[in-house]
Amino acid sequence: MSEKSTIAVVGSGYVGLVAAVCFAEIGHNVICVDNDESKVSQLSDGEVPIFEEYLPELLARHRNKSIAFTTDLHAATQKSQIIIVAVGTPQSQTGSADLSYVDAVASQIARSITEYKLIVEKSTVPVYTNEWISRVIERNGVSRELFDVASNPEFLREGTAVADFLHADRIVIGVDNERAGNVLRAIYEPLTSGSYYQSADAVPGSRSTIDPPPLLQTSTKAAELIKHASNAFLAMKISFINVVSTLCEAAGADVEEVSKGIGTDGRIGPKFLKAGIGYGGSCFPKDVAAFRYVAEQLGVDFGLLREVEKINSEQKRRFFQKVRSALWTFRGKKLGVLGLAFKGGTDDIRESPAIDLIAQFLKEGCIISAYDPAAMERTKQVLPPSGTLSYAKDPYEAARDADALLVLTEWQEFAELDLDRLHYTLRYPIVIDGRNLFDREMMVRRGFTYLSIGRPGATQVKNAVLSNRLP
Ligand code: NAD
Repeated sequence: MSEKSTIAVVGSGYVGLVAAVCFAEIGHNVICVDNDESKVSQLSDGEVPIFEEYLPELLARHRNKSIAFTTDLHAATQKSQIIIVAVGTPQSQTGSADLSYVDAVASQIARSITEYKLIVEKSTVPVYTNEWISRVIERNGVSRELFDVASNPEFLREGTAVADFLHADRIVIGVDNERAGNVLRAIYEPLTSGSYYQSADAVPGSRSTIDPPPLLQTSTKAAELIKHASNAFLAMKISFINVVSTLCEAAGADVEEVSKGIGTDGRIGPKFLKAGIGYGGSCFPKDVAAFRYVAEQLGVDFGLLREVEKINSEQKRRFFQKVRSALWTFRGKKLGVLGLAFKGGTDDIRESPAIDLIAQFLKEGCIISAYDPAAMERTKQVLPPSGTLSYAKDPYEAARDADALLVLTEWQEFAELDLDRLHYTLRYPIVIDGRNLFDREMMVRRGFTYLSIGRPGATQVKNAVLSNRLP
């Protein structure tokens, strides 16, 4: 049995909260710190501010036992040997990562160190951040003997965050000495030894006692680079297949077939080869920009990343044009919109292509009725309901009397809609699917004019269907 540690996790967002709850789940005492008082009081009352599978259950399991919430970083630092920093690292004006939250937390922690602490960067940060954190702490008068700084990048995906954490593909720890390595390896021991998976109420997933996650120990700089390079690579895969989808449209081939043909090559793999309206979210856009900035600073020309970004914005523009090609004009047209979150399974709308596109359609004079199973409340904060934008209670209400229905997020719920009811509900049976969620032949058989991404019929509107329905 591994030793129980007391861990402070600073930042109770998507990463910090999930990590904190999962560390409690594998047997540690966790103090979760956030400077957002309302979030802390919500969490202390057992309310989960984000939509994430297993999070409510695990919080209920460990709250008031091995996990506590506070705004008091000083007290949390004093009580814990390990302080995990999981605050935001948003994009700054230059494209670089804005590290001011990390800097602020490092200075605060420094003022509370009186005995050995391991400070762990879990936020996604550029290479050399580790050294900066050490410098900040030393500048605050803390002797080098009293602390180490390690890097432990997080690879969880929103929507499957808890299972990703507990059933990780790999755990990366970047350390520059064995003292830090020993502490960090120990807290992951219930996962790396496989003992966690013996528990009857362990969260299910791909890992097991006989196949636990591997732990990769690297230098701190390598760990920092691994995280940025991983996200940049995944974004590149998405942009790659998106250009291939454009080629497919031009050649009359089906990108789903091409993608399957590419992805079954073991050297490439099938994931992140889904054509769509481009990547979004709180990570890929800012991490690609930050990685490009890091490369520039280090004198390396990483022009490939500029291309990845360019293709991504082009993909949204192409979708916009596709809708225009179906509707001819925009002013006064009613659009039903399915999906607001940047991807299915989450309520996160940060950098969501759906939000961008809705803003553009509204600007063109469209009237929009939108639905999302989880992200409507968050969207209302950035796009409040108005005379031209309303939020529907279900997908059919969003579709009611619409000139076209747009699918902007790949929620499974949308793929299971009653197509006959949808056909009947729409004013014109036009579906423009930015996520290739529906079977194309089935949609055509059911009488829809169906446009999707990189598949035959992706761009042309079937005039026959249209004229049948014109009033
Ligand atoms: P988030 O915005 O959801 O959460 C950040 C939290 O930090 C907020 O609750 C905020 O109130 C808190 N905070 C900010 N300053 C603070 C301070 N001084 N003291 C205490 N709390 C403070 O962000 P997130 O999505 O959880 O991302 C956090 C980091 O993890 C980022 O670097 C991100 O790139 C990285 N990351 C995110 C994901 C993801 O899927 N969201 C995945 C892997 C890595």
